[in-house]
Amino acid sequence: SGDGFYLPIFGAGLAVLLYRTVVALRFGTAPARRSVGELRRWDRLFLVGATAFSGMLGCLSFVALTRSDEIPCHIITIAVAIAFASGYVARNAGRPLFVIGQLLTVCVPLCIGLVEAEQPYYGAMAVFIGLFVVTNTSITFSLNRNLVALAEARTKSETLAGSLRLQNVTLDCALNSMTHGLVMFGKSLDLAVANNRFAELYRLAPSEAAPGAHLTDLLDRLIAGEVLAPVPARSLAELCRRVLRSGQAGSVEIQTVRGETFVVHAEATAEDGILMLTEDATERKSAAARIERLAHTDNLTELPNRFRFTQIVRALFEAGPDAGTSALLYIDLDNFKSINDTLGHEAGDQLLVQVAGRLRDGLGPEEVVARFGGDEFLLLAPAANAEGAMEIGRRVIAAMAAPFAIDGNALHVTTSVGVALVPEHGVTLGDVLRSADMALYAAKSAGRNTVVPFDPAMAVSLRNRRELEQDLREACRAGTLSLHYQPIVDLASRRSTSLEALMRSHHPTRGPIPPAEFIPIAEETGLIADLGDWAIRRACQDACAWPESVSVAVNVSAVQFRNPETLIQTVKDALRLSGLPPSRLVLEVTESLLIEDEDASLKAVQALHRIGVRFSLDDFGIGYSSLAYLAKYPFSKVKIDRTFAQHVTSHGPSRSIIEVVCQLADRLGMRVVVEGIETELQRLEVEALGAEQAQGFLFGRPLPPESLFGGERHAA
Ligand code: C2E
Ligand code: CA
Ligand code: CA
Repeated sequence: SGDGFYLPIFGAGLAVLLYRTVVALRFGTAPARRSVGELRRWDRLFLVGATAFSGMLGCLSFVALTRSDEIPCHIITIAVAIAFASGYVARNAGRPLFVIGQLLTVCVPLCIGLVEAEQPYYGAMAVFIGLFVVTNTSITFSLNRNLVALAEARTKSETLAGSLRLQNVTLDCALNSMTHGLVMFGKSLDLAVANNRFAELYRLAPSEAAPGAHLTDLLDRLIAGEVLAPVPARSLAELCRRVLRSGQAGSVEIQTVRGETFVVHAEATAEDGILMLTEDATERKSAAARIERLAHTDNLTELPNRFRFTQIVRALFEAGPDAGTSALLYIDLDNFKSINDTLGHEAGDQLLVQVAGRLRDGLGPEEVVARFGGDEFLLLAPAANAEGAMEIGRRVIAAMAAPFAIDGNALHVTTSVGVALVPEHGVTLGDVLRSADMALYAAKSAGRNTVVPFDPAMAVSLRNRRELEQDLREACRAGTLSLHYQPIVDLASRRSTSLEALMRSHHPTRGPIPPAEFIPIAEETGLIADLGDWAIRRACQDACAWPESVSVAVNVSAVQFRNPETLIQTVKDALRLSGLPPSRLVLEVTESLLIEDEDASLKAVQALHRIGVRFSLDDFGIGYSSLAYLAKYPFSKVKIDRTFAQHVTSHGPSRSIIEVVCQLADRLGMRVVVEGIETELQRLEVEALGAEQAQGFLFGRPLPPESLFGGERHAA
């Protein structure tokens, strides 16, 4: 156009271009993650450049319109300005205020220029450009709204997609970490989802348990793969169909071919399909069964235990009187304790297992045998009458007759059996058990290895025993026990060589109780330990007051030998405290001691013998009368039981026994004492048979210590 004024504007345009290029380049190379503050800063730099450029455009238009008359210049500048202004709307709709700023900086100078040109067409164009600004502003705002909505929608959909992905992963994770096999079927029983555990439980390849597989095909494959037999497979199919039909949840328990137990639960889903859960309940079921079995059986013998037996008997009682008579047999091994003590607990256990086996093998139909603890067994025989029950008892005893092979040894064991009948001897379990127990006790007392039926008199005698036991404890505490002494005399000189201490118990109301009655009870209850110790101490003290030639004989129970250390200590203490020379103490023992535990008792006897205490074998002739014992033990005397003296005048065998024992004892260097001499005739007879000493009412009854030598002196 020849007008030099365009040049500075062109220069300004170049400067703006340079500035914007630098800003754009720096923006491009700056780090991608920008904070909001940083973005604002970049925004401002952009605003400055853009507005400078639009201002420059506006300026150009104004100058072209006001300073030149060249129509082409006018057209070019107006067209360029409007083209840019339109572009702003589209380009910068994200920031409407920028657009307004740019529109105004371009269009206001343009319009002023048009107006100042003072041409009617230009004036009209200025009006149109004003309208252009207004409409473009409104378009900008509407575009901006759309843009913002779009951006929001995108953010929303991105977060949604993210959370969906997360949900999917979590669900997958949850499904596959389940201990149950899970499978979902659609409406037509096509598989929709299955977790890994499902495939694993049913031994399916992942491709076989993939979506789309039909239930029927799956089950066919399970049958073909020998995972399920046809019957359980059918029950699975039925379960699914039933749930599908009714919409009600259901479960079945199935067994796999391998023997696992699956509990399958199915329920309807919201989409009209089925959710099926499979639990491998094999472990749980077998643990439950094991616990159940443990609770009901005896560990060692595998017989029903006390608890189970009680249940069975209760059920029988609940059946009421219509059930008829039944019998309860209380079975107890004889001498089990000593087997346990001598052979060890393991051998004892083996024996119990074998006994249990024989009892089980001998059971009749409907009979039940249980281990009740220790060596006690109970046998229930429903529908057995008195005679039938005794027959069963005899059968039990016969079953034990053959020896048991324990650790390569043949062990002979006998049993005692007590029989009680239901309802005759009790209508509650407690009562019947008590009756059977009393009968068992009677069987034991009757010498063991026998069957005894319950008899109501047993209850009475048991009560008496209990009372006696109570009294005995009381007597022990109150010190109402005493010792009486009976002389043992030398037949030739008729002088007392020793005095035997015999225990007396005086009951405040019942009067004197004979030792034959209370000693066995004291032995069973263990009270004998205290009583016996007391007797030894008391006798040693009493004997100190007697002439030196007279010794004291004290009865010692076999039970006391079960604690040999205590016994030995008691004897030593008694001698030391009383000052009695050991040679003046004689301990009387019976053969039962020697049988009970040969070795230990022999050692104890020998230990006491070494310190000078003497021993005599009491009641010889009524027990085992084993002559072997006589030689083995250091006895200085043998006392022949009084039953022999009683018959010595009339009964040939009694005489011969006395005679033989006297000869044998003589050879072994022992004295013989014949007990129970009551008459002069008996005295003469036993003396003639070779006895040196005797004891009996003929020579003196047991007397309290205070009337012993004083009494004799008075008599003299
Ligand atoms: P045992 O050791 O055989 O004692 C002799 C028993 O025969 C005594 O009975 C005595 O009174 C009795 N007796 C003596 N001479 C005659 C007679 O001529 N005719 C008759 N029929 N009997 C005569 P007791 O005192 O009743 O004692 C019975 C049993 O009690 C004793 O028999 C003994 O085994 C036991 N016993 C007594 N005191 C004790 C004791 O302190 N400890 C232990 N462990 N047992 C004792
Ligand atoms: Ca005696
Ligand atoms: Ca005796």
